[in-house]
Amino acid sequence: MLKRGLALGAGLLVGGWRLASRVAAAPAIIDCATWGAQPPREPITVVAARPTKIIIHHTAGANTTDGSLSHAYQLARAIQQAHFDRGWIDSGQHFTISRGGYVLEGRHRSLEVLTSGAGHVRGAHCDGQNDVAVGIENEGTYTSVAPPQALYDRLVELCAYICQQYSISSAAIYGHRDFNATACPGDRLYALLPQLRSDVAARLGEAARVWPLVRRGDSGERVRTVQYLLRARGASLSVDGLFGSATEQAVRQFQSARGLSVDGIVGTQTWEALIITTRRGDSGDQVRAVQSQLAARGYGTTVDGLFGATTESHVQQFQSARGLTSDGIVGPQTWCALVA
Ligand SMILES: [Zn+2]
Repeated sequence: MLKRGLALGAGLLVGGWRLASRVAAAPAIIDCATWGAQPPREPITVVAARPTKIIIHHTAGANTTDGSLSHAYQLARAIQQAHFDRGWIDSGQHFTISRGGYVLEGRHRSLEVLTSGAGHVRGAHCDGQNDVAVGIENEGTYTSVAPPQALYDRLVELCAYICQQYSISSAAIYGHRDFNATACPGDRLYALLPQLRSDVAARLGEAARVWPLVRRGDSGERVRTVQYLLRARGASLSVDGLFGSATEQAVRQFQSARGLSVDGIVGTQTWEALIITTRRGDSGDQVRAVQSQLAARGYGTTVDGLFGATTESHVQQFQSARGLTSDGIVGPQTWCALVA
């Protein structure tokens, strides 16, 4: 039997507060009874505090081509037996994902507690982290090959749901090796963790940066930045700091070309697509945008479109003043701070 956490707690979740700003649906999770778990050897401990992180493992077993449900059951039973053999009270991890893309409960009560969104089942998967981290075992060995897409897709879904239930940031997804001396979860899966965090963030609708809305009728330095960036993107537009019909039309054309929703308003998605990372040695309108912002902020920067030593120094001063990494490179964080 496949159980969906959302369906299990539907009365509480849908009628309650938790779904107010959260949207990640639970993946189907196969509970212990369904895959034929043995009872735990001792009562399961549920600590009161919610977990604060997720830790990713690989089982370091065979990269089987058997993606069947029956194989997934067998995998869960084999892990539990191996963990009994180590003297543990139950499976050490909270959840397991098979190479065929089945998600299974590991330690008893993990699904019940996750669905409630309160408390944490004490695990046995990472020394020093078992009271604060949800452990996910991924079937296979990922030292030199990446996991199958079916497994990865379920991993994104499961992590997003765990983050949602416990208010954990996508930034708090780690690999086992981040805490213990181990190769787990393998070089390839470990290298995928930034992508996993990014995919989970997208699923959660996390806004990493807060951008201002700029629209028709606005005027000033922000509008000038939009106009410079549109020109750098190929628009034919005068930079006058006035958001009129010509600027709106250029924004619409840019949005359409990028597959964004076409509303003529520069918001988060448009800003993220519009900005161009720029650094010393660059030239052009994106550099003028940076220089004009710095000049407006009193740095005395000349707006000549050439990113030289003086512009770099002013960028670094601005970054220091804003608590950003002072590397002189205008990337997304610095752009966001410049137009904030
Ligand atoms: Zn591990």
